[in-house]
Amino acid sequence: MGKVTGFKEFERKDETYKPVKERVTNYDEFTQPLNEAEITKQGSRCMDCGIPFCHSGCPLGNLIPDFNHMVHQGEWKKASWILHSTNNFPEFTGRLCPAPCEQACVLGLIDDPISIENIEKNIVERAFKEGWVVPQIPNKRTGKKIAVVGSGPAGLAAAQQLNRAGHTVTVFERDDELGGLLRYGIPNFKLEKGIIDRRIDILEKEGIKFKTNANVGVNYPIEKLKKFNAIVLCGGATQKRGLPIEGADSEGVVQAMDFLTQQTKVVLGKEVKDQVLATDKHVIVIGGGDTGSDCVGTSNRHGAKSVTNFEIMPKPPGHRSPSTPWPYWPLQLKTSSSHKEGCDRNWLINTKEFITNEKGELTALKTVNVEWKMVPGQRPELIELEGTEKTWPCDLALLALGFTGPEAILSDQLGIETDFRSNYKATTVAYQTNIPKIFTAGDMRRGQSLIVWAISEGREAARKVDEYLMGYSNLPTKGNGDLPAM
Ligand SMILES: Cc1cc2nc3c(=O)[nH]c(=O)nc-3n(C[C@H](O)[C@H](O)[C@H](O)COP(=O)(O)OP(=O)(O)OC[C@H]3O[C@@H](n4cnc5c(N)ncnc54)[C@H](O)[C@@H]3O)c2cc1C
Ligand code: SF4
Repeated sequence: MGKVTGFKEFERKDETYKPVKERVTNYDEFTQPLNEAEITKQGSRCMDCGIPFCHSGCPLGNLIPDFNHMVHQGEWKKASWILHSTNNFPEFTGRLCPAPCEQACVLGLIDDPISIENIEKNIVERAFKEGWVVPQIPNKRTGKKIAVVGSGPAGLAAAQQLNRAGHTVTVFERDDELGGLLRYGIPNFKLEKGIIDRRIDILEKEGIKFKTNANVGVNYPIEKLKKFNAIVLCGGATQKRGLPIEGADSEGVVQAMDFLTQQTKVVLGKEVKDQVLATDKHVIVIGGGDTGSDCVGTSNRHGAKSVTNFEIMPKPPGHRSPSTPWPYWPLQLKTSSSHKEGCDRNWLINTKEFITNEKGELTALKTVNVEWKMVPGQRPELIELEGTEKTWPCDLALLALGFTGPEAILSDQLGIETDFRSNYKATTVAYQTNIPKIFTAGDMRRGQSLIVWAISEGREAARKVDEYLMGYSNLPTKGNGDLPAM
């Protein structure tokens, strides 16, 4: 345990942000770390509960009280060893995870929970700084060749685990750079791309082969893919949802992902023709969630005249609602750092029409207020409220309406069964598709989700692939770290 009285003595402290005025002038990360003495105190707040609910709150089963204790003791190297035993990429989750573990923290019942995510980030950053994150090259190779399609967190985690088991792994990525949505979805100000490159460098040194600009089923033939001993499909779920209303095809109605990807490419020094800019525009972001919030942050950095956000669902309560009691993930209002940079947020609002001028340019949006009729046992019904029609000036509408599922190109060509949501079908027990040597993990299997789930599924699927190839596996299962040699 950290310190018997730690949670009584010390309050929770989180890292701070640079002032809004300063941070919106660039695309850099803007968090300001706590000093080592403060992080040590934060670690000591952990009560080392008999049943640490944080373990089950974390999809990876991270060994949270154990690394908190090590941080309190100043044993940073051991903390890193424990953290890496269950999480391949704590530098991603330590920055971007919504931290369901903290919502399940027992201290959260009576006080602010332990700042687990921030402790995680500090451990991994310290480990990189000290040179403790080194390639783990397997002693023996099995001779089995595995293809991983997709280099998002699921694909990278699966690749690293399978490589550790001694298999020869090739990762195929259709983009020009690796990382999946970490690279071109999530903006730089949330995750600087050097953080991904630093990890890829380790993976390459471990022996994993990467092929970028390799779009399997398009410019990389499926017949060649089939020659691998096993295949793990981690292609994500990035089919964009549209808004099929009048004016939807007008200039100025743009998919959020296109807008975000273009900006990241510009930050990375790549050429982007006709970049969509929010500069001096009235921007309306349709759809909440992470993607919507990232559009708000990017629009403010472009210098938008105004940024407005529409959400069709009701405004969640400011505190945990009775429908999601502790230790569940709470239904509760989330205000991101991007929202705090300037955004007019509106709930229970439905967009009815995009209004354009004679040149076909977007000038306004027409909306109506709505309410949801809930009848037990039936699907919620959306009711439009008469007399609430409103017109909003708008030069740029960003559609952040979520994703309808994975693309069908691989399932069609490989003959993979999909479920009723069009996700690639496999259970969380086997991660195996209807074709025995083909496995699937991450968003492609579960639908658009979270980084932590992608890493978790990549790890679990890797173990199943290893079992399939070898008849047994020494790779760890969830929450049961492999504790690599220090
Ligand atoms: C804008 C945005 C912000 C987000 N912010 C957060 C956040 O703050 N925190 C969080 O936890 N989650 C966030 N998410 C969700 C998170 O990014 C995803 O859940 C996660 O990246 C899924 O990982 P994955 O590996 O399954 O798929 P992806 O990251 O989508 O990676 C799939 C990869 O497969 C490649 N691919 C697909 N088909 C082929 C093919 N045929 N051949 C070769 N390559 C192929 C794709 O190009 C892509 O690189 C966000 C998502 C978006 C869109
Ligand atoms: S990965 Fe996410 S849920 Fe797991 S310990 Fe880290 S912050 Fe918590």
